[in-house]
Amino acid sequence: MFADDVPCPCGSGVAVAACLCKDRNFVPPQVPTLPPPPSTGLTLDRCYASVTRDCLPLLTGEHFLSRTVFEFLSKKGKAVGISNHPWQKDKRRIEPIGISSLTTKVLCKRHNSALSPLDKFARRFLEAYGEAKTYHLSAPSGNLHRLFNGYVTDFTERTHPISTKGPT
Ligand SMILES: [Zn+2]
Ligand SMILES: [Zn+2]
Repeated sequence: MFADDVPCPCGSGVAVAACLCKDRNFVPPQVPTLPPPPSTGLTLDRCYASVTRDCLPLLTGEHFLSRTVFEFLSKKGKAVGISNHPWQKDKRRIEPIGISSLTTKVLCKRHNSALSPLDKFARRFLEAYGEAKTYHLSAPSGNLHRLFNGYVTDFTERTHPISTKGPT
């Protein structure tokens, strides 16, 4: 399918012949989403992942969506347009809001950093989306391939849901 000496389209940074995902017929491995052991046994009430009893104080500010997603949506600007938030007077009006203020305290420090590989994944996914759009517009010959693990794609969407709450 792919030449052995080209960079693997899964984004691992190694050549196809050396890539882990080749053995699994080009299914890229999942990214880790759990904190490294040992478990802390602690529960922090407002942490999304408190059910795992593996928190570490304190709560940290987390973007509603990955910051990289907001940056993509804003075309690398500092603000995005939002509507239909409970704290907006006219819910139909699209109002600009700074990306830096679109955070809320929903994860403890330990779980927040455990999920950072997902942020990297989201960035690569969006970059591939942008690449594919440009690629088709330039009407090239040949194909463009970018591989993603479907389980991680789904998990990314579930762990960064679009919140209906306003900034805190
Ligand atoms: Zn690969
Ligand atoms: Zn936690």
